[in-house]
Amino acid sequence: MQATCNKCTKIFKIHLKEKDHPRGIKEHYFLCKYCKKRYTSFITDKKVRSLQKEMKRTTDVEKRTEIQKEVSSRMEVLKSEVVS
Ligand SMILES: [Zn+2]
Repeated sequence: MQATCNKCTKIFKIHLKEKDHPRGIKEHYFLCKYCKKRYTSFITDKKVRSLQKEMKRTTDVEKRTEIQKEVSSRMEVLKSEVVS
């Protein structure tokens, strides 16, 4: 998997890393290997992980869409809290 860096415009290969934050928050991110710009791929906490479990169990498509929306908005909040 490759990405183009927004900052230095170079193409680099993605190596996902994981970082633990307080309150059970786990961040998955990668760095541009040229300029070290950091990109958060996704971020989870207990609530997000339990929602994701619930989503796997649910066979109802509408319900899954609902949960997916909740997960996305929760991740946005976590990103803004953790990534500075
Ligand atoms: Zn870069």
